[in-house]
Amino acid sequence: KHLYGESRENSAGVDWGNPQQLAEQIASLQKAGAELPHAAPSTLAGNIQASPTEVRNPANRAELVGYVSMATREDIALAFDKAGQARKAWDDAGATHRAVCLVAAADGLRTHRAELVRLLVKEAGKTLPDAIAEVREAEDFCRYYAAQAREHFADPLALPGPTGEENKLFLRGRGVFACISPWNFPLAIFLGQVTAALVAGNSVVAKPAEATPLVAALAVRLLHEAGVPKDVLHFVPASGKLFGEVAFKHPALGGVCFTGSTGTAQFINRALAARDGAIVPLIAETGGINAMIVDSSALLEQVADDVLTSAFTSAGQRCSALRLLFVQEEVADRLVELIAGGMDQLHIGDPSAPATDVGPVINAGAASKLDEYSQRVQQKGIKLLKQCSLNQVRTEGSYFAPRMLELSDARQLTSEEFGPILHVVRFKREKLSDVLAAIREAGYGLTLGVHTRIESVWQEIVAEAAVGNIYINRNMIGAVVGVQPFGGEGLSGTGPKAGGPHYLFRFATERTLTVNT
Ligand code: GLU
Repeated sequence: KHLYGESRENSAGVDWGNPQQLAEQIASLQKAGAELPHAAPSTLAGNIQASPTEVRNPANRAELVGYVSMATREDIALAFDKAGQARKAWDDAGATHRAVCLVAAADGLRTHRAELVRLLVKEAGKTLPDAIAEVREAEDFCRYYAAQAREHFADPLALPGPTGEENKLFLRGRGVFACISPWNFPLAIFLGQVTAALVAGNSVVAKPAEATPLVAALAVRLLHEAGVPKDVLHFVPASGKLFGEVAFKHPALGGVCFTGSTGTAQFINRALAARDGAIVPLIAETGGINAMIVDSSALLEQVADDVLTSAFTSAGQRCSALRLLFVQEEVADRLVELIAGGMDQLHIGDPSAPATDVGPVINAGAASKLDEYSQRVQQKGIKLLKQCSLNQVRTEGSYFAPRMLELSDARQLTSEEFGPILHVVRFKREKLSDVLAAIREAGYGLTLGVHTRIESVWQEIVAEAAVGNIYINRNMIGAVVGVQPFGGEGLSGTGPKAGGPHYLFRFATERTLTVNT
């Protein structure tokens, strides 16, 4: 059966070969910021806070991109109260109606693509290709979940029963979903969570990441314009701590969808366990210490290219990014040389320039954390194999030079370093099982790459790996909606696959109706 649910295609994005489309995009980036966007809670208990916080461009902190007013405790509580009141009518309206709203939102994203790309570049430091791909992904989530909802949520499932008895199974929303999203995909993950929860029949209180409220605010506006009632979807920019204090105790809470660090997911899990009242599920997608295994049969030029893509795209700020490269010792020197050569060719700098490969990291704090890590491990004897030059970048930007380190043992890497740092470990062919054991012991299970031309080698690895997304002989980032459902296991998350055919069920509750006729 075709898992798209109905005929549906992923969006085309911007055609880089079409001068008009590209020129339009670039003109929008240069648009003077006469009217700076201001993200504010969509539900206010009192007056908006007097002094909004400035949102600055991570590539140039001198550039003001917009403002955000943070929600108060009362604003957050009111959003949950109202979402709780609105949720039944939205659930009763049916999946077909909700799917129509999602498709209209997808059309809105397409219409506003240039503005969304501009905000992704200016607020999140995304390169142009990353930003364009992110708008595509957001649009794809809308259309995909709309199709899935039409297929599975619109009509009850008729079940067998003895003569005189009718059995039916319904899918319904769970209540109010708290959606908590990260800054690294401030549009696609934000909207992916929100639209999945909405179309399954829930109302939503959505908290964007503190660093990236502007693009999320525009996405919410587009959903409201697409027909999602204001009381069904509330936008709440807030500190994580304050939001959690109100959200996890609120009686209307029906579920939590979270993408971010493993530590925060564990914290949320404990908070939900401690709450009184209804038991609510947590859908968590977290980080990974993602590995790639390369044996001596691999095509090294292709491997080098895929390593550069996997480790350094988005300045390594993807939870799918490659952190730990295991290379069979016979080919290690050659591969390291090829990767180092590729690192010399990376364009690091202004993310709004079409040729840029690696932009800034999200803020100065992130850059200094990565710097401290890199200094610390080098003091402990870990070897720096290569570091890119930062000659071309602005000093007002939060840049961190991509680098390649060599570990003598994979267990030396104990934390997910969220930036462009690649760790190389050599292994002996007869010790492949030790490599797999090291990956397993780390406890994460998000992405894994394998490069080998021997089928039995990758089959052995696949059989042993407890990992959500495995990529053979290609790069390991950029999962496509409906094509590579995305999400991890173990320390990497609770398992539901965003952009996959089973995702919406995790946002729903099931009711069985038996009628004696
Ligand atoms: N889905 C994205 C990818 O495959 C990663 C999402 C994330 O970083 O959370 O690259």
